[in-house]
Formats: sequence, structure tokens, C-alpha cells
Amino acid sequence: MLRRVLLAASHSGRMRQLVTSAPVARGVVARYVAGDEAADAVAVAGRLHGDGLLISLDHLGEDTRDARQADLATQEYTTLLGSLAVAGLTGGGATEVSVKPTAVGLGLADHGEKTAAENISRICTAAREAGTTVTVDMEEHIHVDATLRIVRTLRSEFPELGCVIQSQLRRSAADCAALATPGSRVRLCKGAYNAPQEVAFTTRAEVDRSYARCLRALMRGDGYPMLATHDPRLIEIGAALARLTGRGPADFEYQMLYGIRPAEQRRLAAEGARMRVYVPYGSDWYGYLVRRLAERPANLAFFARSLVTRS
Ligand SMILES: Cc1cc2nc3c(=O)[nH]c(=O)nc-3n(C[C@H](O)[C@H](O)[C@H](O)COP(=O)(O)OP(=O)(O)OC[C@H]3O[C@@H](n4cnc5c(N)ncnc54)[C@H](O)[C@@H]3O)c2cc1C
Repeated sequence: MLRRVLLAASHSGRMRQLVTSAPVARGVVARYVAGDEAADAVAVAGRLHGDGLLISLDHLGEDTRDARQADLATQEYTTLLGSLAVAGLTGGGATEVSVKPTAVGLGLADHGEKTAAENISRICTAAREAGTTVTVDMEEHIHVDATLRIVRTLRSEFPELGCVIQSQLRRSAADCAALATPGSRVRLCKGAYNAPQEVAFTTRAEVDRSYARCLRALMRGDGYPMLATHDPRLIEIGAALARLTGRGPADFEYQMLYGIRPAEQRRLAAEGARMRVYVPYGSDWYGYLVRRLAERPANLAFFARSLVTRS
């Protein structure tokens, strides 16, 4: 219930104004976000790379309603990829980028899907030149079909393009089975957005069971599974399935968010696993922060107390 209310608040202009103007928010944001500028993201990527971790950088921003803004977001990524290559951080896909379709045009009133596909294609070209890959994030459930269509189309030119499946959606086990083809990079997460019960599981237990089903389909298939979760039980199930299906450490990877369970990230990397950290940067952090608070009531209580006592 609390999660649903919070996720609804991620669309509220008044809440955005209240939270982003509160000085205490900066401190909380610093835990989850690399900084405002691309240089901050490159610096954090360099540090994580030095610790033996892989990285996916995300330029914060979503729900763009303006073609010029979508173009600027695309340029941000192509410039970032150039900087990462110069810094020597892209070799072998060590640092890749994650892109939200609505940040690069999917939600535009006219030709949204076409614009997003063209912009993601530009980012894929820049990534290939830099020696790395792109993963297309998954957003609200209403965008799933269009996002998967974009990925399917672009994969004919960029087979290395990754996509994301959310286990909270009822359709996802079937999507995973269809996507588990040779070379197919699929990130599996639980899902960070509200969705109605007609299309989504609503209890934590159902979402977790669906995650295990999706994971089985991906691990038994021929693609490259990317297990995006901080959940200790699902991480254990992932390791067990890798053993059962004969996958070695190079045949799949774990993924976690910057600032969440960093000790576990380092433990998995030290064991020889491929461990990728998703690192967001940029000034448009409101929606991202609210989704992280919605995942963990303890974070929310801390944040709410700070807002009340300091503002
Ligand atoms: C690399 C990566 C990429 C992602 N990409 C997408 C995407 O494209 N689309 C999408 O909808 N979602 C995405 N997500 C978010 C995901 O859907 C979940 O909302 C999020 O990962 C929390 O789920 P969980 O699997 O960690 O399990 P949970 O059951 O939420 O958490 C398990 C445990 O992890 C720890 N934990 C989890 N969240 C937090 C937190 N915020 N603060 C502190 N501790 C925490 C706690 O110990 C908790 O008990 C992504 C997640 C990751 C890791």
C-alpha cells in the first residue's frame, strides 16, 4: 500500500517541489547518485572499475514530452560514451550505459516510438565505437510492448543490445522464454513501478516466485542473463541455477544499484562473479529517489524524519 502511494507521488509536481528543495534530500541522494555531471559519473565508474566491478551508467531523466529534450538526452549519452572510452573504462563492456526509452522520446505525442528507436540506435552506434554495450531499461507497464519492439528491431543491427524484464508482470515468464536466444542480454528485475493487478502480481511472494520462474527460463536458455536484485534468496537461487545449468562465471552476471549492499557487491566480485553496479547521475533525480524510498520503508522513515526536523 505504502509503496503504491509513494510510486504515485513520483508523478506529483508538488511533492517534487517539496522534496527537491529540501536541503536534506541532497544527502540522501548522494548515497544513490554519482553526482550531477558526466565527469562525476566517469570518476565513480573509475573507482568501481578499480575495485573489480563492472558498471552501467544511467543519465537521470524520464517522461520527456519534448523532442529537443530527447535529442539532448541522446547527445548526453554519446558524449559520455566518448569520455568513458578516453578514460579506458569501456574495454570488454566494463562500463556500459542504461537508457530509459521515455528519456529519449518514447512518450512524445507524435512519433514517440520512432524517435526513441532512432535515438537509441544513435547511442548503440556510439557504444559500439567505444567498445561497449547498451541496455534499454524497462519503465511503466504501458511501455513494455513498444520497448520490446524497439529492442527486437534494433537487435538486427546491434545484437548486443540488452533489455529488461520485470518479474512483477504476469507476462514476464513467457517474455523470458522468448528472449532466451543465443547472445541475448536480458536483465531480470522485480519491477519498480505501479501496475494494476490485471497485468501484475501484487504481493511480494508472488513477485519473488515469478522472479524464480523467469530466472529458470533465462538460465536454461541460450542468452546472457543479468540478475538485477539485492535479494539474498534470489541471489542464492541464481547461483544454484548456474551450477545446475553448467554456466560458468563468464556466462551470466549479477547487477545491483549504486549505494545498495556495496559489501555484497564486493563479495561477489571477489568470488570471481561478474558483478555490475548500476550508477545513475544527473540533476533529475526525483523519480529515481522516490522509487528507492518506496522499496524500503526504513529509508522512507529516515527521510521523512529529516524533512520534518530540518525544514
Ligand atoms: C541493476 C538494476 C537495474 C534495474 N533496472 C530496472 C528497470 O529497468 N526497470 C525497473 O522497473 N526496475 C529496475 N530495477 C529496480 C528493481 O525492479 C527493484 O525495484 C529493486 O532492485 C529492488 O528489488 P530487489 O530485487 O532488490 O528486492 P527487494 O525485495 O526490494 O529487496 C531485497 C533486499 O535488498 C535490499 N534493498 C532493496 N532496495 C533497497 C533500497 N532502496 N535501499 C536499501 N536496501 C535495499 C534490502 O536489504 C532488501 O531486503 C533495477 C534494479 C537493479 C539492481
